[in-house]
Amino acid sequence: MVEIVKAEEGGEILDIELDVNLQRRNLELAEANRRLLESFGVRAIDFMGSVGSGKTCLIGRLVEALKGEYRIGVIGGDLTTTIDMELLEGLGVPVVQVNTGRECHLDANLVAKALEKLNLQQLDLVFIENVGNIICPADFPLGAHRRVAVVSVVESPYIIVKHPLTFQTVDVVALNKVDLAQAVGADVERLEADIRRVNPKLAIVRTSCKTGLGIQNLRETLKL
Ligand code: MG
Ligand code: ZN
Repeated sequence: MVEIVKAEEGGEILDIELDVNLQRRNLELAEANRRLLESFGVRAIDFMGSVGSGKTCLIGRLVEALKGEYRIGVIGGDLTTTIDMELLEGLGVPVVQVNTGRECHLDANLVAKALEKLNLQQLDLVFIENVGNIICPADFPLGAHRRVAVVSVVESPYIIVKHPLTFQTVDVVALNKVDLAQAVGADVERLEADIRRVNPKLAIVRTSCKTGLGIQNLRETLKL
């Protein structure tokens, strides 16, 4: 038998009131971001997922596929580096880097600051890459119209069941790196079944950023 201490039953969440206020404030700012975007007719899509799940790569593929039809800008969150945004800037779209320092997620306030640096009048679409982390970005809506979780099939077989809240706050899951599933013994069908159990409304798209598989499907799922 495993002994369990549940935080919500008197465990150690000491700053819960601060947390509630913080999240309420974040939500207000997220709504303001949404109104700002909509006042310029801009649609925003927010990508979250672990480091190495393929967020930057998928955004890059979408930019390549869409930049003839849409004017695209990208906002990227990262603790300290500019590696990913330099890569995407190479595709010829305006990018804004948000370095969060110690913070392991973007919040609506940081995104508001980033939006100030984009010329929204000249954009149709903004992709937001969250800090690489599948947990707390779920608690911080940014004002985007759609949220995508990127999960690579080479992550833990329990990646879905261990993070149910994340998969309840997103609209689409990209199951990425499916080209590697066989090599690492990943059970893609089981991951999909886990996703459906956690959130039956979620759209699931199998992708391989490397081969380009599923990019068209992802695009259609995002109604782009
Ligand atoms: Mg990245
Ligand atoms: Zn965080």
